[in-house]
Amino acid sequence: MRYRRIPNETIRRLPIYLRGLLFSSEQGQQSISSHDLSCFIRINSWQIRKDFSYFGGFGTPGIGYNVEKLIKEIKRILKLDVLRKVALVGVGNLGSAILAYPGFGMYGFDIAAAFDINPKKVGRKINNIVIENASRIPALKKRKINLAIVAVPRDAAQQIASALVKAGVKGILNFSPCYIAVPKKVKVITIDIAMDLARLPYYMPAG
Ligand code: NAD
Repeated sequence: MRYRRIPNETIRRLPIYLRGLLFSSEQGQQSISSHDLSCFIRINSWQIRKDFSYFGGFGTPGIGYNVEKLIKEIKRILKLDVLRKVALVGVGNLGSAILAYPGFGMYGFDIAAAFDINPKKVGRKINNIVIENASRIPALKKRKINLAIVAVPRDAAQQIASALVKAGVKGILNFSPCYIAVPKKVKVITIDIAMDLARLPYYMPAG
């Protein structure tokens, strides 16, 4: 099925819906109403219905949404319907936690390679992944890995991002607190916990 262009804000919410639906599926639920999904994921039910309308709805009045069908469609839209190998660069405090995190599998991600420049780390194994020297990043192309997580210090981030792009990487999740420049065809999402924390006091009641 071809979809009309889906707004970025809807795309941002799709993984939240997916997480709720995967949980419902685990609980053995075959259908779910937008109201129940709304209570679970804390997004307005009108917003859910509007978002789902971009790709055909899938709801039946009085019954709700077919959970498995919706999971399949959301995965298809997000291109999560294939197993995706991911490389991690920088296996420090954050990188080690990422390597040990079991939550990537439910979205079809497999952290299949990890790189660092510290000789004390190269060759060590975390979660069955052997840490490789960052000089091996160019081999990612041959290994068909085109997604990467960057968790290196700020001053190394641009150089690593450029090496990843040269190796055929098309998507980068960047944890380094800086802007990284990449060609237009490459998508970068930067996650900065401190920056998100910096927004929080604004919403808090005074006193
Ligand atoms: P860390 O110093 O513990 O780890 C950094 C790792 O990167 C080290 O193992 C180091 O050897 C490696 N490294 C350095 N240069 C490299 C290169 N050129 N190629 C490959 N590996 C290289 O730091 P950390 O606490 O894990 O933080 C990592 C990054 O994430 C930092 O930029 C930090 O500011 C950022 N960070 C972000 C958040 C966030 O919420 N976004 C939270 C914590 C840390």
